[in-house]
Amino acid sequence: MTATRSTEIRVSEIFGPTIQGEGALIGLPTVFVRTGGCDYRCSWCDSLHAVDSAYREEWRAMTVDDIWSEVTRLSGGLPVTVSLSGGNPAIQPLGALIARGHREGYRFALETQGSVARDWFAELDMLVLSPKPPSSGMETDWEAFDACLRMAGGKPQTALKIVVFDEADYAYARAAAARHPQLPLYLQPGNHTPPPPDDEDAPIDIEGVMERMRWLVDKVIEDKWFEAHVLPQLHVLIWGNRRGV
Ligand code: SF4
Repeated sequence: MTATRSTEIRVSEIFGPTIQGEGALIGLPTVFVRTGGCDYRCSWCDSLHAVDSAYREEWRAMTVDDIWSEVTRLSGGLPVTVSLSGGNPAIQPLGALIARGHREGYRFALETQGSVARDWFAELDMLVLSPKPPSSGMETDWEAFDACLRMAGGKPQTALKIVVFDEADYAYARAAAARHPQLPLYLQPGNHTPPPPDDEDAPIDIEGVMERMRWLVDKVIEDKWFEAHVLPQLHVLIWGNRRGV
């Protein structure tokens, strides 16, 4: 990939429309703009092709015009929700893209772990903050997380989404939710068979995902944690590891 100018955006892939497979917008048709690069290295990352610098050659430095022409081509020019994902999309300069899309009636949702705060978060329609639990091997910087909320300033609809693999993750999710009781909460059972970036046909342990889903539902109900939504990754159940759907 060539060097990125300050107004250019590092893009791993643009695809869709397809449905959003997880969290608050699950099932909603969306075009995905997946940016390249992440300041984290989660042990179970399911988007390594957008994280690991080994895939940097596949990433493109794109202008807002380049991206916009691809998004509108995919949507047939009809306004649709655009999901900004990654990697960590917060490390890219996305404010101008959001402004451009809004002028044409598109809506923007962004998911980030909450490690980098940007002033353009206030321009989003939906902000999903997904801090990473202990099984990821990452440590949450709650000051940075709180800065993300301050930048959003209560303007976009904001939700908390946490992946849960085990008891330690569950305890982390409870503590995170207690810190931010105002945020709608989405829990997602972890997938122990994340896609190897070079093998989209690698099998998914669907029964394992369903077992963890049942375990998580049981925990939430036993604990009378009635504010939590528990959702699987719908796209994994439908398409397994396939990219671009
Ligand atoms: S924050 Fe997300 S994209 Fe980055 S390494 Fe973790 S799971 Fe992967």
